[in-house]
Amino acid sequence: MRVGVVGAGFAGLMAATRLREAGHEVVVLEARDRVGGRVWSQRLVADDPHTVIERGAEFVLDGYEVMRRTAQDLGLSFADMGMSYYVREPVGGLPTTHQEIAACAAVVAAGAAAVPWSTPLTKVLAEATSAVPASALQAYTSRVVVTNACPEDRLSAAAVTDSTVAFEKRPSHRVVGGNQSIALGLAERLDRAVMLRSAVQAISWGNDEVRLHSSTDEIVVDDAVLAVPLAVAREMSFDPPLPAWKLQAWERAGIGHAAKLHAPLLAPTSFSAVQSVSDRYWTWTATDGTGEVQPVINAFSGSGPALAALQVEAGPRTWVEKVAALRPDLSMDAAKAIVTTWSDDPWSREAYSAMTVDVEQGDADCLVSAVGALHFAGEHTAGDWAGLMEGALRSGERVAAEIIGKSTGNQRNPTSP
Ligand code: FAD
Repeated sequence: MRVGVVGAGFAGLMAATRLREAGHEVVVLEARDRVGGRVWSQRLVADDPHTVIERGAEFVLDGYEVMRRTAQDLGLSFADMGMSYYVREPVGGLPTTHQEIAACAAVVAAGAAAVPWSTPLTKVLAEATSAVPASALQAYTSRVVVTNACPEDRLSAAAVTDSTVAFEKRPSHRVVGGNQSIALGLAERLDRAVMLRSAVQAISWGNDEVRLHSSTDEIVVDDAVLAVPLAVAREMSFDPPLPAWKLQAWERAGIGHAAKLHAPLLAPTSFSAVQSVSDRYWTWTATDGTGEVQPVINAFSGSGPALAALQVEAGPRTWVEKVAALRPDLSMDAAKAIVTTWSDDPWSREAYSAMTVDVEQGDADCLVSAVGALHFAGEHTAGDWAGLMEGALRSGERVAAEIIGKSTGNQRNPTSP
């Protein structure tokens, strides 16, 4: 069988890899001039290999089994970051402690589990005020909003029952040399099957054939995998139009907005993780593969209002000033700071999917289900793993198994959820 894969992020590359291993012919069409999508590793200082930064996904967290297995297979290793993604020192809000924030998280999670899952998070937070200190609730809310890249009045209660959310110190890792090495390694094995600068603009689909139209070409395949971000998929043109159940689930799906800031450091430092409670971003310094702390300050902010207040679209200036005030312990080379935004990137248009109040139970199945010979992958199709590198890889394996099962007659081609 000949299978077309649209998008060479973790999801598309994993799907193509598993399909190729099963003996299918694959062609991967990627709009950008690089692979990896929202995983993008670069040197911050051109001639210093000690400053590889992650402009997109960074943290390899608990339970990332497929990512660990894939890295091992590619001969890659992980660096312990020293600091923990799970524990951040809260600064700039009412005084509180890690213990109080963890206790608050447990109260809110229990409250969230006791209400219908699309209940607004703000309602669960309001009910928690009688049981937890206002200071801890403020710090907890700041963290949850940043992580989910979505304001609390848009998030649903289901957002705080996520499997990767923890508030006690656990190790955090990233791939030595950069997380993008995974995409580069998979693409190298796929070799000429990966076509860069090949943006698919329209898709004609049926039960036995899919036509992928780019500005220069038309590629005809037996089956196709759409592995682009949901915000991009919504803008694509389909002939015939996708069924209403699919389009409605796409429309209801939540979209998160996030940005990152990086700047070189002028003096050595130790590892750290500090959350700006009021400005809704966090900063960290971390060890890399050498075991030394990188001379780089990293920052991440999430949610539209937080990004607007940091004026990320105008460049790093406002954010750098805020980080300088938050982290007087660090000496930054502010002139070399860079900010990375994703929502204005035509090939992502978002950071990652978010569990908002509009999402309905059953939507997860609608996001996953194939229509005719057109199949769907990407982090937004990964259920509990949505929004994460691990989810993207798992979705790639899942969609490959779906197509392999269909080709061997072991599985009915699902046409509705
Ligand atoms: P993508 O990586 O977006 O891949 C889709 C590909 O499709 C892209 O290469 C894109 O260029 C291509 N494409 C788009 N349109 C077209 C078209 N028309 N034709 C052809 N190709 C097209 N996850 C974690 O696990 N840990 C983290 O710490 C973490 N931090 C993050 C921080 C930020 C700022 C962001 C933005 C994301 C973060 N994530 C994190 C999430 C993670 O990056 C994503 O979940 C994952 O990379 C998504 O992979 P994907 O293959 O589904 O999509």
